[in-house]
This record gives sequence, C-alpha cells and structure tokens, in this order.
Amino acid sequence: MTFTKSFPRLCLSLIAGLFLAWQIGGASTPTAAQETPLPEYIIQAGDTLSAIALQFDVTVADIQTANNIGDASLISVGQRLRIPGFDGVSGILRDYTLRPGDTLENIAHRLDIDEDSLIILNRIVNPNMVYVGQPFLYVSADDTPIADIAEAPVWQQNEVKFRLGENDTLANLAAEYGLTLYALRDYNAWPYPLFEFQGQEVKIAADPDAQNSFPPPFAHIEISPTEVVQGEPIVVRVATENTQMLSGELAENKLNFITTTDGQAHMALVGIYNFQKLGVYPFELVATDENGRTATFETRLRVFSGQRGQQSIQLPPEKSSLLDDETLRTEWAQLIDITKNFSATRLWDAPFEYPMEYATDRTTTTFGVARTYNGVSFNSFHGGLDFAGGLGTPITAPANGVIALAEPLTIRGNSVIIDHGWGVYSGYWHLFEITAEPGQVVEKGQIIGTLGSTGLSTGNHLHWEIWVGGHQVDPTSWLDVDYSIVPSAASTESESSE
Ligand SMILES: [Zn+2]
Repeated sequence: MTFTKSFPRLCLSLIAGLFLAWQIGGASTPTAAQETPLPEYIIQAGDTLSAIALQFDVTVADIQTANNIGDASLISVGQRLRIPGFDGVSGILRDYTLRPGDTLENIAHRLDIDEDSLIILNRIVNPNMVYVGQPFLYVSADDTPIADIAEAPVWQQNEVKFRLGENDTLANLAAEYGLTLYALRDYNAWPYPLFEFQGQEVKIAADPDAQNSFPPPFAHIEISPTEVVQGEPIVVRVATENTQMLSGELAENKLNFITTTDGQAHMALVGIYNFQKLGVYPFELVATDENGRTATFETRLRVFSGQRGQQSIQLPPEKSSLLDDETLRTEWAQLIDITKNFSATRLWDAPFEYPMEYATDRTTTTFGVARTYNGVSFNSFHGGLDFAGGLGTPITAPANGVIALAEPLTIRGNSVIIDHGWGVYSGYWHLFEITAEPGQVVEKGQIIGTLGSTGLSTGNHLHWEIWVGGHQVDPTSWLDVDYSIVPSAASTESESSE
C-alpha cells in the first residue's frame, strides 16, 4: 500500500505546490492549535487533501484547520501536514501492511514507540485482533538524524539503510550498532581508502534478534503478497530452525508444503477462490519434528476484494440448452477431480509464457468478472482470460507439464488441461483441434491444439485458465512472478551471522 494515487495528479500537485510556496510563505504563523502534539504526514507525489483525509479517517476541514490551509487544492509535495485525531502522538506518519509474526507488542518494541500510540494511530479496539494484511500506521521520530527508512519498516528489512546526516560519522554509526568500522566497510563493499560524506548511504545488516518474532521452531514466516486478494495466488514461505514437516491452513485452503532436503525451508502455493467471502480468516501452521512433536503458529489474515466487475451475457437459444444444471455440475466435477490433485514434482520454470502469439493485444475478457447468463443472477465468474484469434491459431504450453485431460467437453468444447506440478494446472477451452494426448509430457512452447469456438462459445477465441491448489486464479498474476522460489534456510542464517 502506498499513498501515491496517480501520475496526472503529480503534475497538478507540483504546480499547486509552486503557488502554495508563494502564497503561504508569510501567511503561516504559529497558533495555539499548532502547539498540541500531533503526528505529521509528508505529502507524497499524487496526494490530494481528500485522499489524505480518507486515509486517516478525518475530514478535509479538520486537516485544513490543523494546518491553517485556506484552499484545499493548494498543497505541495514534501509539505508536512499535521493530522488531527491522534492526540498525544507525534512523529512522521508512515504506513505498513501487517505480516505474519507482527504483534502490537513486538512492533512497539522494535520501533521504540509505546503500544498506546500504535493503538491510537490504528484505532484498535482489541489489540489481539490485528490481522495479516491489515493496513497499519506508525510514526518515526522526526529528530532521528540519520534515519532514512525506506518503504519497508526497519523490523522487516534484511538490512537497514541510512544516510549520513550533518553530525554523523561512520565511526559513531558503527559504534551505535556494535560494529567495527572495518566490518561496516566490508559489509558496504566500500573501496579503500574510505570516504565519508553527508548524505552517504550506509547499509547495516538488521539485528537478527529484532528480525525473529516467531515461536520456535519457526525461524521465518512470510506470505506474498501480504494482502490476500480474491482470485490471486499466494505463496507461503517458511524457514524452520531444524528439520520439520509442515502442514497448515490459510483462508479455508489446506496448505501443501514443499520442503527442501534439509527439512528447514518450506513453501506452499494457494489459490484464493474468486468468490471467497470477504473477511478475516485463520492462518495456521503446524510443524512436526522427527520425533513427532508438534508446534503451532496461528494468526489471522483478511481476504480483500478482487473488484473485477460484472458482465451480462445473452446466449442464443440453441446454446442456452448447454447451461442446464446437470451438465454444469458434471463438467465442473470433472475439472475439480483433476485440479484438486497435488503432484510433488515441479515441472515448470517460472514465470509462465502466454499460450499464443500476440495474446496481450488480443485479450477480450479478463479474469474474475462476475457473470450472469441470460439475465439470471451473478452467480458465476469468468475463470480465465479470453484471447481473440483466427480459427486454427496454434496454442502452446506456457510451461512444461503433463497432459491431464484432452477431450471434448459439452460446455468447454475441445479441452486440454496441463498438470505443471505442485498443484498448478492450466486449462484451454473451445479449441478447434486438440493435438496432445492424456499422459503426454509437453514442453514450454509445444503446440497442444488450435484456437476455435467449440462448446459454449460465441466466437473464435481461446479461454485460458490457471488453477492453483484447486482454485482458478488470475493468469496474469502467474506471468509476472516466479512462484517457484523456495526460501533458503541458509540465507536467513547467513544474514544473522554477519
Ligand atoms: Zn472465457
């Protein structure tokens, strides 16, 4: 989450900023109101007062009053705004998204802020009810001379970056972190002789103790992305201190973990159902050691809306008959029967490729759009991507895999499903021809069929799906990210020892 909303506003804000600098130059005089301690927000490119007000759950008028601003459009990037409603809290407001292992107590400890301030800032009613993915506010001290906290707060960074201030020296900084100057130079790979200048960027390995807030034997737990969204894949990465077997559950999905041979690095892929009810769900991990002893990690996370829109489709009478309940159910059961399986061998190399040429230019319907057929209710959604194309256009495997299904289906027409391993499947419907056979091993780029309009289709197109852990997910998410990376326990260790 960031405060940056859009680029066009940046230009406006910059222009507005020039006016503002000129207008309020002499007008702003200290008043009684300005003596109350209040946190400050530094205006970022693209911000508007109304967006800022919405962010902090206050009114534009309240912000104007607290800052003696007459015209709400006159704000400038870099300007500091006092944010009312958080009485008694001071510092620069920053935002963050809660991750597994975060609690108010350990965040307060690491940031050296009292827990009450965090409760005020986040309007928390029950401190035990925070959840993974929760938008979270904190303040950092204004007078910390060298702190230059980037997007991620200190407690989640593998290393901390600083910029040398006017009165800082590398020697002092090293001393503050219990390091020798030599160790600092070594870590930053600075050439010899050593230069030192104001504004110099200094990297320091994060305090290993401050990194670890997980109960043993869990050394590290992360979910990516931190915001769990309907119709998106999620990867859970866990490191354990010793050999463990993992199982778990995330938003009603069973987690199938892949574990490295040393038993200390684990990964699970989940697909969040596109119609998963919005709300807060348990996220639970159970680790079992070689002697059968178990340890549990439990937290909560929120499932956010995918907000993918709606679409009404009118089918000609001869195609409408395909929509009868029995046919729908039987065919759906057939797909579930295949895609619910978990093959422990990963065949693919990420990221995936599009299954046909010029696909990006030919996308006609995106994933997850809620659908109604012939005006009934929006009880189904578009489970994949549609690409327009000429009859007979070659369709290729987006990654290596094994053909799990290759046959004509009533609704989906000539269909192919590829099993890529680790619970990842891709599906191809409405094909003109099928050129692959069940059980056949296919490689990335190999032709598996040609584009057509068989089954419940209103014109030549390819319908392409990606399934993860038994749910359809947005295929575009699968093209950008390498979900095959297993966390390395060794790398977490080496950071600690630096
Ligand atoms: Zn489609």
